[in-house]
Amino acid sequence: MIAFNVPAVTGHELAYVQKAIGKHKLSGNGEYTKACHRFFEERYGFTKCLLTTSCTDALEMCALLLDLQPDDEVIMPSYTFVSTANAFVLRGAKLVFADSHENHPNLQAEAIAPLITPRTKAIVVVHYAGMACAMDQIMALAEQHGLYVVEDAAQAIEASYQGRQLGTWGHLSAFSFHETKNINCGEGGLLGINDPRFVARAEILWEKGTNRSAFFRGETDKYGWVDLGSSFLPSELNAAFLWAQLEQLDTIQNKRHAVWQYYWQALSPLAAQGYCQLPLVPPHATHNAHIFYLVLPDLDTRTALIRHLAQQGVHATFHYLSLHTSQFYRDQHDGRPLPHCDHFSDCLVRLPLHFHLSEADQAQVVAAVQSFFLSA
Ligand SMILES: *Cc1c(COP(=O)(O)O)cnc(C)c1O
Repeated sequence: MIAFNVPAVTGHELAYVQKAIGKHKLSGNGEYTKACHRFFEERYGFTKCLLTTSCTDALEMCALLLDLQPDDEVIMPSYTFVSTANAFVLRGAKLVFADSHENHPNLQAEAIAPLITPRTKAIVVVHYAGMACAMDQIMALAEQHGLYVVEDAAQAIEASYQGRQLGTWGHLSAFSFHETKNINCGEGGLLGINDPRFVARAEILWEKGTNRSAFFRGETDKYGWVDLGSSFLPSELNAAFLWAQLEQLDTIQNKRHAVWQYYWQALSPLAAQGYCQLPLVPPHATHNAHIFYLVLPDLDTRTALIRHLAQQGVHATFHYLSLHTSQFYRDQHDGRPLPHCDHFSDCLVRLPLHFHLSEADQAQVVAAVQSFFLSA
């Protein structure tokens, strides 16, 4: 079976984990963690960033930093992972879901304005498949209404809008290094801070609500419990593994883009004949080859395609189930239908795309997709 995902390993991961062990400091915020911070701050231009144990944790830090109060409203897409939503629900916020574009899973910037009320505190965007939401429009709208913008950039490493890295547009952002993402350390994440007002408090939340970071910089003569917090920082073992991946970031990205382009070229004729739709790269966006998906005409066709691919030895998978119809949240949703979101929940399928995918396997994936449509 051709795996849907195999976590990228580029060669130096074990050696760097070994080095971390040799330094006799395995807990968080050591040399590898600091090296990862510097890498992202220099490459992307964050005011400050902090490695976290997951993107989920980084999103929970965002919700804490925004100081959400019960009944504050947060606008976000329904077509997303549960962590985008959970982080804010944990703080008592009410979710207001915006629909996707008709032809793209990302939320529609135009759909946001009618959802803003006096209780709205933040807009959370998700850059699906590393493809940008219309950040210029969204930031302008947020500024006009005095709202915060959080970017769930879990999938958006090395992807940009108008030439600017995703995750550097909003006040705060969250990235994932889960094994399914382009670069990984098993489980891991990053909080990106672009608004300097959040820097000092973020460090405190990160270190269990203490001012330990400031203490170790010599900025205070003792450290103690000063705020809410949790254990959001990852161990040096994870940071060492991640550092090996960061050194090979371009190699990983080049490989993923080659696979993405191959699928695009090979499957374009099927799309031209109307069998399916291929990913649409939004205007002014540069994507990062995180996901290659097809959109089928209906749920039955998608189910049949996934079954056919499995029979041909190819593991393909669908993606998000609309959060507004989820068992957990449907009773709290305001009842508005979100048909585009439901469409992608029913009709989108993702093909295998990872660093270790051979050319023979790519050809087999394409042949399996073609045989579904052309020999039926
Ligand atoms: C992967 C993902 C997350 C969660 O990331 P973790 O690091 O596993 O917590 C959140 N949001 C989106 C959009 C994701 O793709």
